[in-house]
Amino acid sequence: MPRLSEVLTALDVLWPAERAEEWDAVGTVCGDPDAGISRVLFAVDPVQEIADEAIELGAQLIVTHHPLYLRGTTTVAASTFKGRVVHTLIKHDIALHVAHTNADTADPGVSDALAGALDLRVVRPLVPDATDPHGRRGLGRVCELDHPETLGEFAARAAKRLPPTAQGVRIAGDPDALVRTVAVSGGSGDSLLDVVRAADVDAYLTADLRHHPASEAVQQSPLGLVDAAHWATEWPWCEQAAAQLDEISDRHGWGLRVHVSPTVTDPWSSHHTSGAPN
Ligand SMILES: [Zn+2]
Repeated sequence: MPRLSEVLTALDVLWPAERAEEWDAVGTVCGDPDAGISRVLFAVDPVQEIADEAIELGAQLIVTHHPLYLRGTTTVAASTFKGRVVHTLIKHDIALHVAHTNADTADPGVSDALAGALDLRVVRPLVPDATDPHGRRGLGRVCELDHPETLGEFAARAAKRLPPTAQGVRIAGDPDALVRTVAVSGGSGDSLLDVVRAADVDAYLTADLRHHPASEAVQQSPLGLVDAAHWATEWPWCEQAAAQLDEISDRHGWGLRVHVSPTVTDPWSSHHTSGAPN
């Protein structure tokens, strides 16, 4: 059975901490480097439900995409909801490790997993990492479809292939417009709208698109917008990352059991279509 420190060394090769954005908080939140690891749980959000799920599974390590504490804290008292998570984890000898923007820009990264979930052919990063000589790392991905389809059909495919959420998938733009090329970016994507427009793609699949950036984007160009739930656009990364750790475990003969949490931790829990009959 590998020690936590050995597993973390392997994870750091996949997602080096120094490739995270400066504002980000990645790495190990809690855990004893000498603890033995036999089961690992991957999830998007380090919330109480995921900590409880790890206890149930008997996992000694949770790897999440989102940080527990993005900024510093002066308390981990169990009277705070984040402190409660920390208490739960430490009481049950469960380590927590975070790979956030260092996983976004990795090769393969969060947006490769999103593209893979929809069977899109990745052409290049949307915002390439200048330090990557192979030109594969970076933020977002520009992709091609095998066969052109309408924006409506593309959105329906996203709704079918991504895990179900209350939000589902919304589109902005002409649903009958033909889509041959798309940009994808897992997580909040409106800061990339200018780069997406410059990439001259037919559609952009992302999450958390706000009114003004979305309105301006569709007024300025025929770009179709496909907005899925933030959690759903990043969840495919958990499966990709779990497969990567499985492969590492096989190579080292670690015998790790690697799980992906099916729990929907998107905060939106219900959706009502406006104007629908009661
Ligand atoms: Zn995110």
